[in-house]
Amino acid sequence: MNLNHKFNLGFFPTPLHPLNNLSKQFPGFSLFIKRDDQTGLASGGNKTRKLEYLIQKALDDNCDSVITAGAQQSNHCRQTAAACAIAGLECHLLLGGDKPKKYNGNLLLSNLIGAKIHFTGENRKGEDIESLKKRLELENKNVSVIPYGGSNLLGTLGYISAIKELKQQFIEQNLKIDYIFFASSSGATQAGMMIGLDLFGVNTNLIPINIDKAETEGYLENIVFDLINQSKKYFNLNKEYTLKDIPLNRDFDKSGYGKLTKSEKNSIINLARSEGILLDPVYTGRAFYGMLDYLRKSKIKKGSNILFWHTGGLPANFEYGNRLI
Ligand SMILES: *Cc1c(COP(=O)(O)O)cnc(C)c1O
Repeated sequence: MNLNHKFNLGFFPTPLHPLNNLSKQFPGFSLFIKRDDQTGLASGGNKTRKLEYLIQKALDDNCDSVITAGAQQSNHCRQTAAACAIAGLECHLLLGGDKPKKYNGNLLLSNLIGAKIHFTGENRKGEDIESLKKRLELENKNVSVIPYGGSNLLGTLGYISAIKELKQQFIEQNLKIDYIFFASSSGATQAGMMIGLDLFGVNTNLIPINIDKAETEGYLENIVFDLINQSKKYFNLNKEYTLKDIPLNRDFDKSGYGKLTKSEKNSIINLARSEGILLDPVYTGRAFYGMLDYLRKSKIKKGSNILFWHTGGLPANFEYGNRLI
């Protein structure tokens, strides 16, 4: 296994620290946060860890161009643009919807970083990747494709190594965490954490909060399951997983992807005003709301140490603007 063969893009380890003010709101619980919003790559986020492996692969394959896809406010696309700038690669982003009159948030930043942006209308999840790849190849470009959300085996390695980092912080801080809450959407963050916990022998419970309402039953679980099986093979990990072993809480996705409700807004405001930490309207605001809901309804036993894994997303706040007031 080689977790060291990667292109450095971020500042690691990211901080892990207590949320002392917020913990006072929930007597009997000790709350902590892991700051992957502070990875340092063009305002940070969880895609930085995946991109260290994905960009290394593009360079190993002698590519000069990268294509990836996402929503207009994709944090993954913004971080990919920045990673490509550092690595000297031409970056093409396929973004769903039509060209907006005003650029803001992640779209503004991706453009600023120099990505070539293609608006793809109804094709929101990278359906146009292959045709763009063919076009670029006709121009003699050597293209590396990074899938939607950076979620393939290489992307998964990012969160396997994140668990190695976490284990070291547990040792240094003499900390035992009982539950980890985080936003799960394209699969590699969750799959990497699951494999990482088994690989490095870390005992805790994952509570992934589903963000993107499933098109079909079990959609994300199947993606995570597939990534787990690929990783298992890659690391010769001797453990049987079944689809039923994949945790995923779907209680908070009802309003749909990117739809800000009072719940997300109030959780963003709560953390901002208690701890001065900024969440985002799409992913972490929703996952954080999910965590607070567990605490309010006492779905977790008192005395537990709970970690919120902040996965980034800051720039999207600017796109949502007045809806957050
Ligand atoms: C992409 C993203 C996630 C979800 O990570 P996946 O690996 O796609 O499941 C969570 N939070 C933020 C801010 C993201 O940009």
